[in-house]
Amino acid sequence: MIIDTHSHLNFKAYDSDRDEVIKRTQENEIICIDVGTKYETSKNAVELAEQNENIFASIGLHPIHIKTDLLRLRMDESEGGFEPLGEEFDKSKYLELAKSSKKIVAVGEIGLDYYYKPKGTAKKELFKQKQKQVFIAQLEMAEELNLPVIVHTRVAFDDTYNILKSQITNHKSQKRGVIHCFVGNWQEAQKYLELGFYLGINGVLYKQDITETIMNCPLDRILVETDCPYLTPLPVEALAKAGPDGYVRNEPIFVKHIIQKIADLKNIGYDQVVEITTQNAKKLFGI
Ligand SMILES: [Zn+2]
Repeated sequence: MIIDTHSHLNFKAYDSDRDEVIKRTQENEIICIDVGTKYETSKNAVELAEQNENIFASIGLHPIHIKTDLLRLRMDESEGGFEPLGEEFDKSKYLELAKSSKKIVAVGEIGLDYYYKPKGTAKKELFKQKQKQVFIAQLEMAEELNLPVIVHTRVAFDDTYNILKSQITNHKSQKRGVIHCFVGNWQEAQKYLELGFYLGINGVLYKQDITETIMNCPLDRILVETDCPYLTPLPVEALAKAGPDGYVRNEPIFVKHIIQKIADLKNIGYDQVVEITTQNAKKLFGI
Protein backbone atom coordinates (compact mmCIF):
# COMPACT_ATOMS: atom_id res chain seq x y z
CA MET A 1 0.00 0.00 0.00
CA ILE A 2 1.17 3.50 -0.89
CA ILE A 3 -0.02 6.80 0.60
CA ASP A 4 -0.06 9.84 -1.68
CA THR A 5 0.08 12.39 1.12
CA HIS A 6 -0.81 15.41 -1.00
CA SER A 7 -3.35 15.31 -3.80
CA HIS A 8 -6.09 17.63 -5.02
CA LEU A 9 -8.72 15.30 -6.47
CA ASN A 10 -11.15 17.93 -5.16
CA PHE A 11 -10.05 20.33 -7.93
CA LYS A 12 -11.98 21.18 -11.08
CA ALA A 13 -9.23 19.49 -13.14
CA TYR A 14 -10.95 16.14 -12.34
CA ASP A 15 -14.56 17.18 -12.87
CA SER A 16 -14.95 15.16 -16.07
CA ASP A 17 -13.47 11.85 -14.90
CA ARG A 18 -12.99 11.97 -11.11
CA ASP A 19 -14.60 8.55 -10.57
CA GLU A 20 -12.21 6.87 -13.01
CA VAL A 21 -9.17 8.54 -11.45
CA ILE A 22 -10.29 7.41 -7.99
CA LYS A 23 -10.95 3.89 -9.31
CA ARG A 24 -7.37 3.74 -10.58
CA THR A 25 -6.08 4.73 -7.13
CA GLN A 26 -8.12 1.90 -5.59
CA GLU A 27 -6.93 -0.66 -8.14
CA ASN A 28 -3.35 0.35 -7.40
CA GLU A 29 -3.88 0.20 -3.62
CA ILE A 30 -3.12 3.85 -3.14
CA ILE A 31 -4.53 5.87 -0.26
CA CYS A 32 -4.80 9.62 -0.90
CA ILE A 33 -4.87 12.57 1.40
CA ASP A 34 -6.97 15.11 -0.41
CA VAL A 35 -5.85 18.60 0.51
CA GLY A 36 -8.03 21.69 0.72
CA THR A 37 -6.72 25.13 -0.25
CA LYS A 38 -9.67 27.28 0.84
CA TYR A 39 -13.03 26.65 2.50
CA GLU A 40 -14.70 25.49 -0.68
CA THR A 41 -12.02 22.97 -1.71
CA SER A 42 -11.65 21.87 1.92
CA LYS A 43 -15.36 21.06 1.97
CA ASN A 44 -14.99 19.16 -1.32
CA ALA A 45 -12.08 17.21 0.13
CA VAL A 46 -14.20 16.18 3.12
CA GLU A 47 -17.02 15.09 0.81
CA LEU A 48 -14.65 12.96 -1.25
CA ALA A 49 -13.23 11.40 1.90
CA GLU A 50 -16.71 10.57 3.15
CA GLN A 51 -17.56 8.90 -0.17
CA ASN A 52 -14.37 6.90 -0.67
CA GLU A 53 -12.73 4.56 1.76
CA ASN A 54 -9.21 5.18 0.46
CA ILE A 55 -9.42 9.00 0.64
CA PHE A 56 -8.71 11.14 3.70
CA ALA A 57 -9.04 14.92 3.93
CA SER A 58 -7.05 17.92 5.06
CA ILE A 59 -8.68 21.32 5.57
CA GLY A 60 -7.15 24.79 5.54
CA LEU A 61 -6.62 28.13 3.85
CA HIS A 62 -3.60 28.30 1.51
CA PRO A 63 -1.63 31.58 1.69
CA ILE A 64 -2.38 32.52 -1.93
CA HIS A 65 -6.11 32.43 -1.19
CA ILE A 66 -6.02 34.87 1.71
CA LYS A 67 -8.03 37.99 1.00
CA THR A 68 -5.82 40.97 0.23
CA ASP A 69 -6.20 44.35 -1.47
CA LEU A 70 -2.45 44.57 -1.98
CA LEU A 71 -2.18 42.17 -4.87
CA ARG A 72 -4.44 41.00 -7.67
CA LEU A 73 -4.84 37.27 -7.30
CA ARG A 74 -4.69 35.10 -10.36
CA MET A 75 -7.31 32.38 -10.53
CA ASP A 76 -6.11 28.92 -11.29
CA GLU A 77 -8.42 27.30 -13.82
CA SER A 78 -7.68 23.75 -12.75
CA GLU A 79 -8.52 24.55 -9.13
CA GLY A 80 -11.89 26.11 -9.77
CA GLY A 81 -13.97 28.07 -7.31
CA PHE A 82 -15.99 31.18 -6.81
CA GLU A 83 -13.83 33.35 -4.63
CA PRO A 84 -11.36 35.10 -6.91
CA LEU A 85 -11.04 37.93 -4.39
CA GLY A 86 -9.68 35.65 -1.72
CA GLU A 87 -10.99 34.46 1.58
CA GLU A 88 -10.90 35.93 5.06
CA PHE A 89 -9.91 33.14 7.47
CA ASP A 90 -12.96 32.22 9.54
CA LYS A 91 -11.87 29.81 12.21
CA SER A 92 -15.38 28.94 13.36
CA LYS A 93 -16.32 27.76 9.85
CA TYR A 94 -13.28 25.48 9.67
CA LEU A 95 -13.87 24.15 13.18
CA GLU A 96 -17.43 23.34 12.22
CA LEU A 97 -16.18 21.51 9.13
CA ALA A 98 -13.57 19.68 11.22
CA LYS A 99 -16.34 18.30 13.41
CA SER A 100 -18.27 16.96 10.45
CA SER A 101 -15.99 14.04 9.56
CA LYS A 102 -13.69 11.56 11.23
CA LYS A 103 -11.68 11.34 8.03
CA ILE A 104 -10.02 14.74 8.45
CA VAL A 105 -6.41 13.92 9.28
CA ALA A 106 -4.63 17.28 8.99
CA VAL A 107 -4.87 21.06 8.79
CA GLY A 108 -3.47 22.28 5.48
CA GLU A 109 -2.31 23.39 3.24
CA ILE A 110 -1.34 26.39 5.27
CA GLY A 111 1.82 28.46 5.32
CA LEU A 112 3.59 31.36 3.63
CA ASP A 113 4.03 32.18 -0.03
CA TYR A 114 6.10 35.26 -0.90
CA TYR A 115 6.60 34.36 -4.55
CA TYR A 116 4.07 36.87 -5.85
CA LYS A 117 4.11 40.01 -3.77
CA PRO A 118 3.13 43.68 -4.04
CA LYS A 119 5.67 46.38 -4.93
CA GLY A 120 6.97 48.74 -2.25
CA THR A 121 8.47 47.92 1.12
CA ALA A 122 5.47 48.98 3.23
CA LYS A 123 2.98 47.02 1.15
CA LYS A 124 5.25 44.00 1.09
CA GLU A 125 5.47 44.10 4.87
CA LEU A 126 1.70 44.32 5.28
CA PHE A 127 1.25 41.45 2.84
CA LYS A 128 3.65 39.26 4.80
CA GLN A 129 2.10 40.27 8.12
CA LYS A 130 -1.32 39.13 6.99
CA GLN A 131 -0.01 35.77 5.79
CA LYS A 132 1.85 35.23 9.04
CA GLN A 133 -1.25 36.08 11.07
CA VAL A 134 -3.41 33.57 9.20
CA PHE A 135 -0.69 30.92 9.34
CA ILE A 136 -0.39 31.27 13.12
CA ALA A 137 -4.17 31.24 13.55
CA GLN A 138 -4.34 27.95 11.65
CA LEU A 139 -1.46 26.43 13.62
CA GLU A 140 -3.45 27.31 16.73
CA MET A 141 -6.48 25.64 15.19
CA ALA A 142 -4.44 22.48 14.49
CA GLU A 143 -3.33 22.54 18.11
CA GLU A 144 -6.94 22.77 19.24
CA LEU A 145 -7.96 19.91 16.97
CA ASN A 146 -4.87 17.91 17.86
CA LEU A 147 -4.06 17.44 14.18
CA PRO A 148 -0.74 17.60 12.28
CA VAL A 149 -0.21 20.31 9.65
CA ILE A 150 0.57 20.28 5.94
CA VAL A 151 2.80 23.29 5.33
CA HIS A 152 3.18 25.14 2.05
CA THR A 153 6.17 27.47 1.99
CA ARG A 154 7.60 29.33 -0.98
CA VAL A 155 10.45 31.85 -0.84
CA ALA A 156 9.74 32.18 2.89
CA PHE A 157 12.10 29.86 4.74
CA ASP A 158 13.07 32.15 7.64
CA ASP A 159 9.54 33.21 8.58
CA THR A 160 8.16 29.68 8.17
CA TYR A 161 10.88 28.14 10.30
CA ASN A 162 10.64 30.79 13.04
CA ILE A 163 6.86 30.55 13.27
CA LEU A 164 6.89 26.74 13.45
CA LYS A 165 9.65 26.83 16.01
CA SER A 166 7.90 29.30 18.32
CA GLN A 167 4.60 27.45 17.94
CA ILE A 168 6.25 24.24 19.10
CA THR A 169 7.96 26.06 21.97
CA ASN A 170 4.63 27.57 23.05
CA HIS A 171 2.71 24.33 22.82
CA LYS A 172 4.69 21.29 23.75
CA SER A 173 1.73 19.22 22.61
CA GLN A 174 1.70 20.66 19.07
CA LYS A 175 1.53 17.84 16.57
CA ARG A 176 4.18 18.20 13.89
CA GLY A 177 3.55 17.85 10.20
CA VAL A 178 5.08 17.88 6.78
CA ILE A 179 6.88 20.51 4.75
CA HIS A 180 5.05 19.74 1.55
CA CYS A 181 6.81 20.03 -1.84
CA PHE A 182 10.21 20.48 -0.23
CA VAL A 183 12.61 22.35 -2.54
CA GLY A 184 15.17 23.85 -0.17
CA ASN A 185 18.77 22.86 0.44
CA TRP A 186 20.09 20.32 2.92
CA GLN A 187 20.80 22.98 5.59
CA GLU A 188 17.17 24.09 5.50
CA ALA A 189 15.95 20.49 5.46
CA GLN A 190 17.93 19.74 8.60
CA LYS A 191 16.31 22.67 10.43
CA TYR A 192 12.84 21.31 9.70
CA LEU A 193 13.91 17.78 10.64
CA GLU A 194 15.20 19.09 13.98
CA LEU A 195 11.74 20.51 14.67
CA GLY A 196 10.30 17.05 14.06
CA PHE A 197 8.83 17.69 10.62
CA TYR A 198 8.75 15.35 7.66
CA LEU A 199 9.73 16.38 4.14
CA GLY A 200 7.13 15.88 1.41
CA ILE A 201 8.79 14.89 -1.86
CA ASN A 202 7.01 15.12 -5.21
CA GLY A 203 7.61 15.60 -8.95
CA VAL A 204 9.53 18.78 -8.31
CA LEU A 205 12.57 16.52 -7.87
CA TYR A 206 12.72 16.24 -11.65
CA LYS A 207 12.88 20.00 -12.03
CA GLN A 208 14.90 21.27 -9.09
CA ASP A 209 18.00 19.65 -7.70
CA ILE A 210 17.20 18.29 -4.26
CA THR A 211 19.48 15.26 -4.69
CA GLU A 212 21.67 16.16 -1.70
CA THR A 213 18.64 16.40 0.60
CA ILE A 214 17.18 13.10 -0.59
CA MET A 215 20.50 11.32 -0.26
CA ASN A 216 21.09 12.66 3.26
CA CYS A 217 17.58 12.63 4.68
CA PRO A 218 16.76 9.48 6.67
CA LEU A 219 14.02 7.54 4.89
CA ASP A 220 11.90 7.55 8.04
CA ARG A 221 11.47 11.33 7.65
CA ILE A 222 10.29 11.34 4.03
CA LEU A 223 6.71 11.35 2.77
CA VAL A 224 5.80 10.83 -0.87
CA GLU A 225 3.18 12.94 -2.62
CA THR A 226 2.03 14.01 -6.08
CA ASP A 227 0.46 17.48 -5.55
CA CYS A 228 -1.73 16.43 -8.47
CA PRO A 229 -3.03 17.86 -10.79
CA TYR A 230 0.30 19.74 -10.72
CA LEU A 231 3.96 18.69 -10.91
CA THR A 232 3.61 15.69 -13.21
CA PRO A 233 6.70 13.44 -13.00
CA LEU A 234 8.94 13.80 -16.03
CA PRO A 235 8.63 10.14 -17.20
CA VAL A 236 4.83 10.57 -17.41
CA GLU A 237 5.13 13.90 -19.15
CA ALA A 238 7.51 12.43 -21.71
CA LEU A 239 5.04 9.70 -22.72
CA ALA A 240 1.73 11.51 -22.50
CA LYS A 241 0.03 13.99 -24.75
CA ALA A 242 -0.45 17.42 -23.24
CA GLY A 243 -3.99 18.70 -22.77
CA PRO A 244 -5.39 21.87 -24.38
CA ASP A 245 -3.69 24.00 -21.71
CA GLY A 246 -0.30 22.55 -22.63
CA TYR A 247 0.04 20.50 -19.45
CA VAL A 248 -0.07 16.80 -18.74
CA ARG A 249 -2.34 16.34 -15.73
CA ASN A 250 -0.85 14.52 -12.77
CA GLU A 251 -2.76 11.92 -10.69
CA PRO A 252 -2.11 9.83 -7.56
CA ILE A 253 -0.97 6.62 -9.32
CA PHE A 254 2.05 8.51 -10.69
CA VAL A 255 3.42 8.70 -7.14
CA LYS A 256 5.15 5.44 -8.09
CA HIS A 257 7.63 7.46 -10.17
CA ILE A 258 8.53 9.54 -7.12
CA ILE A 259 9.13 6.37 -5.11
CA GLN A 260 11.32 4.92 -7.86
CA LYS A 261 13.35 8.11 -8.14
CA ILE A 262 13.94 8.21 -4.36
CA ALA A 263 14.96 4.53 -4.44
CA ASP A 264 17.43 5.26 -7.28
CA LEU A 265 18.94 8.29 -5.52
CA LYS A 266 19.31 6.46 -2.22
CA ASN A 267 20.41 3.28 -3.97
CA ILE A 268 17.86 1.14 -2.15
CA GLY A 269 14.92 -1.00 -3.26
CA TYR A 270 11.54 0.36 -4.44
CA ASP A 271 9.70 -1.82 -1.91
CA GLN A 272 11.73 -0.46 0.96
CA VAL A 273 10.78 3.10 0.03
CA VAL A 274 7.11 2.08 -0.17
CA GLU A 275 7.21 0.33 3.17
CA ILE A 276 8.92 3.08 5.16
CA THR A 277 7.17 6.09 3.61
CA THR A 278 3.78 4.41 4.11
CA GLN A 279 4.64 3.77 7.74
CA ASN A 280 5.67 7.42 8.11
CA ALA A 281 2.39 8.69 6.70
CA LYS A 282 0.36 6.32 8.86
CA LYS A 283 2.21 7.46 11.93
CA LEU A 284 1.92 11.19 11.22
CA PHE A 285 -1.71 11.24 10.09
CA GLY A 286 -2.98 8.43 12.28
CA ILE A 287 -4.35 6.49 9.31
ZN1 LIG B 1 -1.04 21.39 -2.99
